[in-house]
Amino acid sequence: MDFTFDEEQREFRAVLRSFVDREIVPVAREWEQEGRYPTQIVAGLKRLGLFGITVPEEYGGLDLGPVPFALVFEELARGWMGIAGILGSHSLSCRMIAQHGTAEQKQRYLPALATGERRTGIGLTEPDAGTDLQGIRTTARRDGDHYIVTGTKMWITNARHADPLPCLVKTDPHATPAHRGMSVLLVDAGTPGFTVTKDIPKLGYKGTESCEVVLDDARVPVENLLGGAEGRGMQQVLSALEWGRVNIAARSVGIAQRAYDEALAYSRQRMAFNRPISDFQAVQLKLASVATTLQAARLMAYWAADAVARGRADAETGMAKIFCSEVALEAAIEAMKVHGGYGYSTEYEVERLYRDAILMSIGEGTNDVLRTVVAKSLVRGQARVG
Ligand SMILES: Cc1cc2nc3c(=O)[nH]c(=O)nc-3n(C[C@H](O)[C@H](O)[C@H](O)COP(=O)(O)OP(=O)(O)OC[C@H]3O[C@@H](n4cnc5c(N)ncnc54)[C@H](O)[C@@H]3O)c2cc1C
Repeated sequence: MDFTFDEEQREFRAVLRSFVDREIVPVAREWEQEGRYPTQIVAGLKRLGLFGITVPEEYGGLDLGPVPFALVFEELARGWMGIAGILGSHSLSCRMIAQHGTAEQKQRYLPALATGERRTGIGLTEPDAGTDLQGIRTTARRDGDHYIVTGTKMWITNARHADPLPCLVKTDPHATPAHRGMSVLLVDAGTPGFTVTKDIPKLGYKGTESCEVVLDDARVPVENLLGGAEGRGMQQVLSALEWGRVNIAARSVGIAQRAYDEALAYSRQRMAFNRPISDFQAVQLKLASVATTLQAARLMAYWAADAVARGRADAETGMAKIFCSEVALEAAIEAMKVHGGYGYSTEYEVERLYRDAILMSIGEGTNDVLRTVVAKSLVRGQARVG
């Protein structure tokens, strides 16, 4: 068994670390609290080529495997999880277009998506359907060489910057089972009838926007049907979500690492009873517990990433996403406790980690739903433990 990164991965991590320490860590707290869009950081992500991490090299991307892909999200989330959000659904959709798009769609979109000149996101969730994607109500009716699309999408990250925004729709609302009538349409920004109607106010995950999007008889050309055939949307989306769970597991490790770093540093400089609080065993126990679960979470996240590199890994990615997201939240809470009253202050980093960590158990499938996915794989014998 080899639990070490290879030399190329270590070098890549060093580049990411120095970028995050230089360009994200010093500004994250202030910009997050101001609600400022991190334009300069986005420029840095472009410079590093990170908008192309899941784009094949022939279209100008880096075409990373799942392990270096996870490194990107761990390191960015250590600096500011909202920045990982800017790249997250962008990268999943780039991969979905690369895997399932027609040759013409790949040529049309991927080169500009790889440089960040264009950005994207993913439009699945609706006001009345999140987990139950087969229950979506957005429909696309064929009218000559266009689809007429009607519906509302909720919580769409990057919606104000996405061009195109891939949207899951029902091209045959009467199909049974429902997924056979579902397709993905690549909706270009500026399509008549496509409007980003509001930014949803939220607890954390600031820096990137999460929006409501309305499609009101939006006219989408038929050539924007992903892959050129109806009825494949659910399968296309699910293939993207596997990498999404690796992404969330890695972000969670980044949050937990930062919580640990902040707690350790604070405990060494905060004095009580004429000693640094790191001298007290009660504080040491917290540090040791966070360090232990953090290291276990890291191993699990990269184990799942490695499993994806080898083939289908629903159970592994599900387990990693569940475990790592729960470790992130616990680490953030423990780090707040180590900070005493200051942990509750917006003048310190740890309260942001707490607000951001909670989302990790919701996005890319709630942890409860993922437990059912993991259980199914185990019961059907598709995955084994041990
Ligand atoms: C900040 C943020 C950003 C997001 N970004 C995007 C985005 O870019 N694109 C996008 O499409 N979506 C996005 N989402 C939506 C996210 O994916 C959904 O919120 C998530 O899938 C859950 O769906 P829901 O909110 O409708 O909850 P529901 O599906 O209504 O679930 C509510 C509760 O019921 C439970 N539940 C539901 N079904 C079952 C079941 N079968 N078994 C057991 N328990 C069940 C859930 O676990 C949960 O506890 C984002 C959400 C947030 C908060």
